[in-house]
Amino acid sequence: MRILDLLMELQRNYSILASNKKILKDGSYIYFLKKLKTEFESKKLKYKENGEKLKDIKKKYKNISEKMKEENENLKNNEYILYNKSGSNMKLINTLEKDIEKIKGSIKELHTLEVELLEEDEKITEKNDILREKLKELKFNFDEYKKSSSDKINKSKLDIEKCKENIEKIRKKIPEKTLKQFDYLREHKSIAIVPIEKDVCIGCKMKVSFITKDKIRKEEEIVHCDNCGRILYYKSK
Ligand SMILES: [Zn+2]
Repeated sequence: MRILDLLMELQRNYSILASNKKILKDGSYIYFLKKLKTEFESKKLKYKENGEKLKDIKKKYKNISEKMKEENENLKNNEYILYNKSGSNMKLINTLEKDIEKIKGSIKELHTLEVELLEEDEKITEKNDILREKLKELKFNFDEYKKSSSDKINKSKLDIEKCKENIEKIRKKIPEKTLKQFDYLREHKSIAIVPIEKDVCIGCKMKVSFITKDKIRKEEEIVHCDNCGRILYYKSK
């Protein structure tokens, strides 16, 4: 393998290493998972609150039903006395009639309350049905995203190990002096070796001199860009 090819391979491994390190450092997946979790928790809380409201409504409804039963009993009793026991006692008849009207009014009010509670119950139940579906969906997304990001992280860790091995192997095949140049460039320019295209260094986008071009073509030595100093090679070769 030519030194130039080794340097290209070395650079390729360093670049893969860097991009994988960046993936490990990137906390955006954690941020996204936290966001999903927060959304899940707040919806779950709402769902529970609604559940409490529904329980409360049931309790109220039960109370009203009991009162209604009592009032119906009262009504029946009063009507029984009115039609069977009051004879011609006008005072009693008047009182009973007034009481009956009052009880009827109270029954009507209780009925209205009952209807209102049923409507509220229906509304909240409907909301909770939607919330339940949403919670299922959020849980699914959370698990999927968690799995895919942990797969991604594991792959990056493996890639990093592989790159480190490759780098070690390749470095052993390159002369010390060239490695020093390469490391210096990598440290300062991040990419140490770049192709030239149409006489232009891809690293700094500057045209290289005729002499430099000629040297690259001859492949007798490592050639650096006149402007940025990066090691140059022809892409076609
Ligand atoms: Zn350059």
